[in-house]
Amino acid sequence: MTFEQLELIAPLLKAIKEEKYETPTAIQQQAIPPLLKGRDVLGSAQTGTGKTAAFSLPILQLLYRDGQQNQRSRNIRALIVTPTRELAIQIGESIAAYGKYTGLRHTVIFGGVGQGSQTDALRRGVDILVATPGRLLDLMDQGYITLKHVEYFVLDEADRMLDMGFIHDIRKLIAVLPRERQSLFFSATMPDNIVELSRKILNNPVKVAV
Ligand code: AMP
Repeated sequence: MTFEQLELIAPLLKAIKEEKYETPTAIQQQAIPPLLKGRDVLGSAQTGTGKTAAFSLPILQLLYRDGQQNQRSRNIRALIVTPTRELAIQIGESIAAYGKYTGLRHTVIFGGVGQGSQTDALRRGVDILVATPGRLLDLMDQGYITLKHVEYFVLDEADRMLDMGFIHDIRKLIAVLPRERQSLFFSATMPDNIVELSRKILNNPVKVAV
């Protein structure tokens, strides 16, 4: 199987080639087709499997197809929530690499650092926001972020998120997300509390496991 066979668009294929990826990984092969069709996905996958590209490539493609990045004012149309600052930064770097020919803009926000440069980037406008839960809610409370335009929502490393005590933050977040959206949920393990949380977020998901 090739990336071309996954029906990815030229700007993404060009970036993938520059990353020197030759074949899609198992999670990419399983997750990309249903995501491009608009399905929710429940992914059981660890870091190192290529899961970042599995969710980032379809989101970039769907946003690019909408073409709204050409408008002057940008809205946050994709939200990716991940437990740690390191993961947030890594995802941001991957999106920068895969999305370099799309014209889509993203930024990364996380706690433990001053918020000035993060709020500056938000003010300039982004299509994709990568965030840790605490700083996300904090900047929402301060009025720097609205999630009312979110069409794509990714909850990454959900089991770690709960282990780190983010359940209340996640519940608050789900409550303000638009009901009509496409959602992706990734977790390395699937204990009962994770399955229960996934049911609150996903709508008839395609299940992928690697
Ligand atoms: P992730 O699981 O998303 O953290 O990705 C793990 C590593 O695999 C990262 O360094 C990616 O750059 C790399 N990677 C992702 N997809 C592919 C692929 N299809 N071929 C080769 N390397 C990849």
